[in-house]
Amino acid sequence: MSDKKCPSCKKNVAGETEIVSFEFQGIKVEFRKFGFQCAECAQKDFEKKFIRYTPREISISNGRIDVNWEDILSLKKKSSKREVILFLLIDLGVLSHSSLGNWEVVACNLNINPLGGGELFFTRREDAESFAKSDLGAALYPWEIRHIDQVIKSFEESAAGG
Ligand SMILES: [Zn+2]
Repeated sequence: MSDKKCPSCKKNVAGETEIVSFEFQGIKVEFRKFGFQCAECAQKDFEKKFIRYTPREISISNGRIDVNWEDILSLKKKSSKREVILFLLIDLGVLSHSSLGNWEVVACNLNINPLGGGELFFTRREDAESFAKSDLGAALYPWEIRHIDQVIKSFEESAAGG
């Protein structure tokens, strides 16, 4: 256990790399903070990023998250704004790296997702549908949305997960 002070607030102990979770506008937010920052500053950073990067793309009211996929897809692929927004959506539980219980958009046997690489899953059907229509609506090849009910892994992942 390190007792190094957090360089941002110079007040709290930075602590370890760990999962932090808190409530933001009625939504549970959860992500891994790193050891160079205290939990309080990690939370403030999330809130600042949310306000700065998502004025139109994500709205939260009455504990409900609405995502404007068309706006997100109009941002350049791999642009930092797009990536920040997508990582905020992971922290908000709208997107997930894990497949079980979630929705996947598939075209040509590939996981199609707004990051444009790797695998990313939607936790809500409405987002998978709205993303797929915006991104692939005009595609000349078939695509589909799948709900993943069972996953059998060759190796158990560590309890910490990712
Ligand atoms: Zn701090």
